[in-house]
Amino acid sequence: MTVPGSMINRPLLVSSILTHAVRNNPHQEIVTGLDGGKKHRYTYANFYKRVVQLAMGLQNNGIKMGDRVGTLAWNTYRHLEIYYATAGTGLVCHTINPRLHISQIQFIINDAQDVVMFYDSHFESLVEQLKPNCPSVKHWVLLDESTSATNLSTYTEWLDTSHEDLDWPQFDENSACGLCYTSGTTGDPKGALYSHRSTILHAYASCHPDAVGVSRRDAVMPLVPMYHVNAWGLPYSAMLSGAKMVMPGADHSGKALHSLCETEGVTLSAGVPSIWQIMLDYTLANNLTFSTLKCAVIGGSACPPAMITTLSKLNVSVRHAWGMTEVSPLGTVCLLLPEHESLSEQEQLNVLAAQGRPLFGAEFKITGDDNVTPLPTDGKTTGNLMVRGNWVIERYYGKSESALTDGWFHTGDVASLDANGYMRISDRSKDVIKSGGEWISSIEIENIATEHPDVQQAACIAKPDPKWGERPVLVVLKKPGTSPSEENILSIYNNRVAKWMIPDEVVFVDQMPMTATGKLQKAELRKKFFAPKENNE
Ligand code: ADP
Repeated sequence: MTVPGSMINRPLLVSSILTHAVRNNPHQEIVTGLDGGKKHRYTYANFYKRVVQLAMGLQNNGIKMGDRVGTLAWNTYRHLEIYYATAGTGLVCHTINPRLHISQIQFIINDAQDVVMFYDSHFESLVEQLKPNCPSVKHWVLLDESTSATNLSTYTEWLDTSHEDLDWPQFDENSACGLCYTSGTTGDPKGALYSHRSTILHAYASCHPDAVGVSRRDAVMPLVPMYHVNAWGLPYSAMLSGAKMVMPGADHSGKALHSLCETEGVTLSAGVPSIWQIMLDYTLANNLTFSTLKCAVIGGSACPPAMITTLSKLNVSVRHAWGMTEVSPLGTVCLLLPEHESLSEQEQLNVLAAQGRPLFGAEFKITGDDNVTPLPTDGKTTGNLMVRGNWVIERYYGKSESALTDGWFHTGDVASLDANGYMRISDRSKDVIKSGGEWISSIEIENIATEHPDVQQAACIAKPDPKWGERPVLVVLKKPGTSPSEENILSIYNNRVAKWMIPDEVVFVDQMPMTATGKLQKAELRKKFFAPKENNE
């Protein structure tokens, strides 16, 4: 028998974050780094007014519920206004990664059938090339408020200043509010369409103290771009918490980021390891410290333990996080448990290098090749990582077939799970190395390599081998001014891993190929040095 609930049932809508924010934290600040070291700052109250004005502007221009509104933009207050004005009125904010190849951007816009495109001035030439090939886009709007005469449609024209408030429409919480495409390293990019409900639940869960743990006392700086899975949900979780928001804009130099961090009292920041490396290199090279930063959320690819140690010396604790576009993105975050406090530093580091424990709302299992039968959660067995939960996609945007196997989403990662729920990724399935029938975790080999003082970045890839099937090879980018030998680098593996796991050779490179989201492109390295492993790479 079903017992009817006796609770108010309000739909979980993104506009509720906005109204909560302005009612309870009207004086909280949003600061944006602008070109030339300048800054823009205003309060949540003023932000709110502009969101209303933009929402009205979108309506005045005939943009209808469910329409996709594209963005090619950095992390700025205007981008944040677009997030809330679109979602608040039932439109879909479609963030596009401007660093993708133009053919992919074009594909994505056409697949999403965006009707408006808001773009930062840095992308003007890209937009000029896109315009003739993206017929669905009726309005290309430059994110510029200068009043100088221009033949381009500008953001100012889309702010209807005759309004200060708005009765935010109430609609089904399962309606879409955001769209983000995977970067399509294999095949065409695919869209993940987020609902209001999934976005709010993800934001709630990520504010938990054992997850990202955002609070009103924080000043949050998302280094991760707003086009990389909604900056990992920070535009929602930070505003929901009433935190100060510090948006880095277009200048991603170590100097600019460190200065923003210090001058704005940033306490929590999040990004992929490569952007943290840029900020850390600058900090260390100039003998600087972090006076307010306490928490570094690092994810998107494996955080090297050496980075955790360096940040810890600077009194910043790392929360290693795992996620993916299809998972909104957060699935796990890594923190020590009380029982880990008695462990040695090295043992604690080993725990912290794992991808972490599930957020409430995300469930994991590892399986064999059938992607169904669960394997033991003993912390040793590795298998295909499967996830399900309220913010995991059920199907890709525009596709009729389900993306699930038996109700679970196949992440494409290979991982282990232990009895406390700690998940540890050993590889992406397309990067695994199988030598003599045994798996070698490329992430483990890379993590050890980055402990070497002369190694800036390392990638462990498979080399086809007639005897063993595959053998590991370490590709190394040296730290500037150093010249370690192959032998010297490989000596770091002595007594750390089984002999057969030690790479056969070290290949030195001048530059590592990186994806548009700042991750190592191992497929490119394989292509460059050895016969390609897959046909579709
Ligand atoms: P893409 O990398 O294709 O742009 P995503 O950002 O969605 O798309 O990437 C998701 C993938 O990134 C995961 O499936 C996993 O392989 C990798 N990843 C994310 N976080 C981590 C992490 N902390 N450690 C190792 N791999 C990670």
